Amino acid sequence: MVELTIKTSKREEFIDITNLVERRVREIDEGLVCIFVPHTTACVTINEKADPNISIDINNFLNRTVPRGKWLHDVVDGNTDAHIKTSLIGNSINIPVKNGKLQLGVWQGIFLCEFDGPRERKIILNFIEIKK
Ligand code: ZN
Repeated sequence: MVELTIKTSKREEFIDITNLVERRVREIDEGLVCIFVPHTTACVTINEKADPNISIDINNFLNRTVPRGKWLHDVVDGNTDAHIKTSLIGNSINIPVKNGKLQLGVWQGIFLCEFDGPRERKIILNFIEIKK
């Protein structure tokens, strides 16, 4: 298991962590990396990394769909929208690895999604290696 720490700098942002993860799978001949984000207002997803506007579009879509300040939990800490967005996106993904490379599609990147930053966030990586 590897634990990574990332400092986010905005309330909402998508941070490309593809290279951070790729660096940790070099020793894996064939297997799987499980990426888990242990937070309730940040999560992880895969989407296109070439055009940064896609992350902005996804975030804008979520902001329109899940507005701030209208939910029961908002009287506690005002971040219910971040909790809902996190549940919609999800806290873990699995990616196949072969010959030390993530088997992502050519346009795919891995993103830490921050919805209630800036904060320090953890990312847990677990590796499953297939023995031949
Ligand atoms: Zn909360």
